[in-house]
Amino acid sequence: MKKIIDFVNQMEEELTALRRDLHRHPELGFAEHRTAKKVKNYLSQLGLEVEEVATTGVVATLKVAPGPTIALRADMDALPITEATDVDYKSQNEGVMHACGHDGHTAILLATAKVLTKFKDHLAGTIKFIFQPAEEGPGGAKPLIEAGVLTDPEVDNIFGLHINNQLPTGTIGVQKSAVSAAADEINLKVIGESGHASTPQRGIDAIYTAGEIVTSLQSVISRQIDPHHTAVINLGTIEGGYRRNVIADEVQITGTVRTTDPDLREQMPHKIERVIKGITTSQGADYELDYNFGYPVLINDTPLVEEMVPKLKEVDSFNQIKYLPRPSMGAEDFAYYLREVPGVFFRLGAGGETMDYYDAHNSKFNFDESALKLGVILFITLTLERIKDF
Ligand SMILES: [Zn+2]
Ligand SMILES: [Zn+2]
Repeated sequence: MKKIIDFVNQMEEELTALRRDLHRHPELGFAEHRTAKKVKNYLSQLGLEVEEVATTGVVATLKVAPGPTIALRADMDALPITEATDVDYKSQNEGVMHACGHDGHTAILLATAKVLTKFKDHLAGTIKFIFQPAEEGPGGAKPLIEAGVLTDPEVDNIFGLHINNQLPTGTIGVQKSAVSAAADEINLKVIGESGHASTPQRGIDAIYTAGEIVTSLQSVISRQIDPHHTAVINLGTIEGGYRRNVIADEVQITGTVRTTDPDLREQMPHKIERVIKGITTSQGADYELDYNFGYPVLINDTPLVEEMVPKLKEVDSFNQIKYLPRPSMGAEDFAYYLREVPGVFFRLGAGGETMDYYDAHNSKFNFDESALKLGVILFITLTLERIKDF
């Protein structure tokens, strides 16, 4: 292991260069053409079997000897944000920015593939390197799974990581069980009847009805769920009406619903619709509700977490392996892989020592690049532990 860690430490310059090149050329979900090409070339040069999957997905397989199959996943997409940093490797693609660290994830997994290929004589098993498009939406994990990335050979365990500026560099964060929330969508149309403002009794006011719905939906959180469970209902847009003296006949509302308990998640559409139905009925209005399930709750495999944490604590490169107390209310489509096979999603501390980096999705986001090599060491440790135990 020491030899491997020394090798990773020597790769620091290459890792930074890889990340910065990706950072300069960010691409949106399912449009990661340059990124995928670069990833494919890098992996092919390592002599790996490389496959293109689900538009811009790339999967490489390293088969060494009979044994378990471990999958490692990185996401490659950027966000529709105009970068506001002044780094010299700033985005050259106007309006698109790697503001979530996926450039780092891609660089980490490429370097991991290089290291594991170099030391393959020490392995017994198969490793799949999954480079996934569109984590920021509409979601690349699902189409990749449908295309068979977890089969042939059947994947036994999968690991993923996310760069995190709220943890100092050297800290690895992990949760037992729920890691991040399910993110579901409300699309609601409140239907009334237009009329003159002076004769409210002759119309049905969609704006008034929508107002009551906006207020009352929060009572689902405060009055209808176990206070030990967590949920968020956020109505992010509302549109309707024509002018001040016309009763609005239609209001469109969109929102997101976040839950971290899969059972509660299933109950939310009913609870929400019940409120909407009650209020619209009371006003003589009507509604159309389109409720879509998005990314599911991301649930780590607890026994695997408990098995891996002590092994990670033995690695000198990490300062701390920290159990994070609560799941995040953000969503992550790594959740789909974990519905199929046991695995763990880690938070890779990249906030430096001073922790003065901006949060993900901020136009000034950046992170401590010395965390990149720790990401590689994390992936390698996890892989070797699984393969050695077989
Ligand atoms: Zn993100
Ligand atoms: Zn992300």
